Amino acid sequence: MESVHVFMTMDCEPTTATSHPDATGPRDWAHGERAVRGWWKLAQEHGCPVTFFIHPETAVGQAAMWRELEAEGACLGLHMHPWKYSMWKHGGKRYLAHFGGLSAEEQHALLSEAGAIWADAIGHAPLYFRPGTYSANDSMYAVLSSLGYDGGSCSAPGRVLPEMQAIWTGAELDPHRANAVFRQTAGELDFVNVPQSMDMSRLLEGRIGRRMYADLRPDVDWPGQYGAAWSTIATNILAQTMARNPAVGTIGVQTHNHYEYLDPECPQVQRLRAMMAEVRKACDEAGVQRRGSTLADIVQAVRATPRVATPFVVEGAIFESQGKVPTLQS
Ligand SMILES: [Zn+2]
Repeated sequence: MESVHVFMTMDCEPTTATSHPDATGPRDWAHGERAVRGWWKLAQEHGCPVTFFIHPETAVGQAAMWRELEAEGACLGLHMHPWKYSMWKHGGKRYLAHFGGLSAEEQHALLSEAGAIWADAIGHAPLYFRPGTYSANDSMYAVLSSLGYDGGSCSAPGRVLPEMQAIWTGAELDPHRANAVFRQTAGELDFVNVPQSMDMSRLLEGRIGRRMYADLRPDVDWPGQYGAAWSTIATNILAQTMARNPAVGTIGVQTHNHYEYLDPECPQVQRLRAMMAEVRKACDEAGVQRRGSTLADIVQAVRATPRVATPFVVEGAIFESQGKVPTLQS
């Protein structure tokens, strides 16, 4: 692996005025704008464009800013926590769920409706998607494909948050064509999913039995709360990716629009600087070139790779430790 795509994203939530005081999201639009412009500026300092996943309320509330940033090279996609949208648009009467808690029909109806609002604000239909909390079920990719989406960043490998229908225990780790019927493995769709980058070396346990791996998000104090140093996370993500040797490799960095990214004293700004220095160091030491990329760039890169036919595996002695795995071709 000679180069890696550095993929910086921000989930742009509605203000807590229409969701919940404890929900992710800025206090007001001015707070949200400082976060967005600060993240954009910091990303540029690291030679990276930004992919913003924007909730419908946020698309409407800050439409002029999004159009301006898109003209400057930002990639814009739709972000969706159905329950937040429900409280804003339907008084909690429809779609009061996390994304993975909706049926295929509900997902289709919600995305058609919310996508139209987003398109009115931004000036074109959304082509990229990220579900809130990476909450998803097996209907998601088929629904997104049927609505004309090109790609998304829809999975957090290893995450287990059953109470929010976000379970990705055996998920594909690298960018791939998505599967129309089984979300955790690669498939044949043109829709490309770019998983969040995880340091898979140590499964962490949070509150109420939540399970996850450390990643590159300045939102969380991984070193202070879980003893996972930024240098360890960055080095492991790169080393694990190199060992898998995917056709397209990524290092994902993500955050939310409720931090003061214009303020150099903000803890998240300092964490970002620390982690990006470690990413640079790890890449330099491994001789891997960093390339700042949007989701659109990565989708294009995956689509340019040849489709590889996977042999159909048949049942045999499934749990033997050695021996050939039988396939229909063998
Ligand atoms: Zn979100």
